[in-house]
Amino acid sequence: MKKIAVYPGSFDPITYGHVDIITRGLRMFDELIILVAYNPNKASLFSVQERMDLVRAVIRDEHVRVDCSSGLLVDYVKNMGANVILRGLRAVSDFEYEFQMALINRRLNRDIETVFLMTGYQWFYTSSNLIKEAASLGGSVKGLVPDIVNDRLEQIFAKAKE
Ligand code: ADP
Repeated sequence: MKKIAVYPGSFDPITYGHVDIITRGLRMFDELIILVAYNPNKASLFSVQERMDLVRAVIRDEHVRVDCSSGLLVDYVKNMGANVILRGLRAVSDFEYEFQMALINRRLNRDIETVFLMTGYQWFYTSSNLIKEAASLGGSVKGLVPDIVNDRLEQIFAKAKE
């Protein structure tokens, strides 16, 4: 049986922190589905389509699929024939939220397990939100995100300044 895991997140945009979890996740699972999980009522910098396109441009691996969903995560996982949710853990502050999510998801479907990977230490403070904030104020985020993402952020915030 193929071991398939779903790695959900906003990926607004994908960072090297995400890439690290994906690369290491691929050593544990036969297939990874990177799921751009979105809430249509929540504002984001990148459209769902562009977030998926950026993930596809950065992660080129035949064992990776990229998809999007705004529905219940455990239902998505089950429908895809997977039984693992992959998540990354950074600072202690991630822990409480991730713990709650893992428990509610287990309550919703007992056949699905959440697996956590500790962040690579270089990416401890890398979050999409901080990156967007720094980039919006003209700070360089080169080295924290793939070049294609860095270019897009520079474009977006240069335009905003015009
Ligand atoms: P963010 O919190 O950066 O907006 P997402 O909502 O896209 O990221 O997060 C998706 C998953 O990836 C979460 O489990 C999150 O903890 C994890 N993740 C995000 N950034 C990192 C990082 N730098 N290192 C490890 N895991 C991360």
